[in-house]
Amino acid sequence: MTTLQGLYRPKTVAEATALLAQDPDAKPLAGGATLVAMLNAHVLEPAALVSLADIDEIKGISTMPDGRVRIGAFTRHRDTAACTLRLGSCAVVPHAASQIANATVRNMGTIGGSISFADPGLDYPPALVAAKAEIEIASAEGRRVLPASGFFVDWYLTALEPGEMVTAVYLPPNDGGVGTYVKHARVAGDYATASIAACMRGDGRLSVAVGACGPTPLSDPEADAVLSEGRSDASVARAAQILVEHADPLDDVRGSADYRRQLIPRLLLRAVRTLEAAPRSAA
Ligand SMILES: Cc1cc2nc3c(=O)[nH]c(=O)nc-3n(C[C@H](O)[C@H](O)[C@H](O)COP(=O)(O)OP(=O)(O)OC[C@H]3O[C@@H](n4cnc5c(N)ncnc54)[C@H](O)[C@@H]3O)c2cc1C
Repeated sequence: MTTLQGLYRPKTVAEATALLAQDPDAKPLAGGATLVAMLNAHVLEPAALVSLADIDEIKGISTMPDGRVRIGAFTRHRDTAACTLRLGSCAVVPHAASQIANATVRNMGTIGGSISFADPGLDYPPALVAAKAEIEIASAEGRRVLPASGFFVDWYLTALEPGEMVTAVYLPPNDGGVGTYVKHARVAGDYATASIAACMRGDGRLSVAVGACGPTPLSDPEADAVLSEGRSDASVARAAQILVEHADPLDDVRGSADYRRQLIPRLLLRAVRTLEAAPRSAA
């Protein structure tokens, strides 16, 4: 193992992962929206950066032969937000992308950089968990795929091992359903104080995930089952109660833990009523 120094610009995933294998302390550099701020603040001082900007394979959004949608890790938030593919309930993902920060950050940041950073207040993680997305990870040894629910491990901690990088996010095929992302922030452009990502599939089943109310996106099969069986105010309140019981929010500048718990039922009700009113996309 050698120690790298400086900025490297690989053109393929194989070249990038070979560099990361040589020196696990080298950091992938994507949009730089978060990493460059951390470098400026001396929070991180890696000797080497591996820029992902020249790797075409990890850019853009495409439909796979099996109907899944692949979002390359280096796809900017603005491009994900503007995706015009029919995504069914996975439309929650571009809807979340459209609510990230402001146009400047959406022009810089990438989906791979966002989920690798794994701040609990980010907008993609709950959307990817509710959508039942999968994350593709590459290393010098090969590739592996994890469900989004298994990728986010703890506060700012993902399943990425040293020498690994995210290469893509896969969304399930269009199910003819609808998806929505409801975010509550102190001011426009801020990280979420709390958020709800909600997907209603073509057959009426629901899956939801709560953001910014614990170390990782919070989802619960019992809450999903309650919402899939009925969506009266009482059913939504029952599902919200289950989620509140499992929430583990922090007190911080964006709101107290108690305030965040109080937001969950309100945001969930808004999300469910939005889904019911939304036009379905044909599968
Ligand atoms: C002012 C401001 C406001 C923001 N507000 C929001 C918000 O409201 N909602 C929201 O969701 N986000 C918000 N963000 C975060 C933003 O979405 C960032 O773009 C994102 O967190 C990092 O993406 P990036 O591509 O810039 O990654 P970088 O900053 O380049 O990298 C971030 C981290 O991920 C690692 N990394 C990058 N790419 C990969 C990869 N493919 N595989 C493995 N590791 C990788 C880097 O080594 C680094 O540790 C905000 C950021 C700023 C600066």
